[in-house]
Amino acid sequence: MTRGLLHRCPNCGGNTLFGRWLRMNRTCTRCGLKFEREDGFFLGALVFDYTLIAVLTLFPVLILVFTGVLSMWTALIIAVLAALLGAFLFYPTSKSLWLMTYYFFVIGDLPANAQV
Ligand SMILES: [Zn+2]
Repeated sequence: MTRGLLHRCPNCGGNTLFGRWLRMNRTCTRCGLKFEREDGFFLGALVFDYTLIAVLTLFPVLILVFTGVLSMWTALIIAVLAALLGAFLFYPTSKSLWLMTYYFFVIGDLPANAQV
């Protein structure tokens, strides 16, 4: 789980998940683990991304609107900007967390855990 939170390869722990901020490597350069197991594998990462953005940005803005602190238009602008910025900032973490979640529940698929 620590490897998922730190954007590390779930198999070897190398810092090889991302080449740059938004560019995920296809395989681990250290152990050769293929990160995207099949087409659409990272669709689940969108769930993490959406949930975190909703919880951290949209819900607080809605609360400020309903309590009268912000006007509707101000809240709308803040919510859109926060959602766009949040999606950009959380993108690598959501993919890493999705990879971590997959191997947390299907632990036998991880080569490091395979029986010799
Ligand atoms: Zn690796």
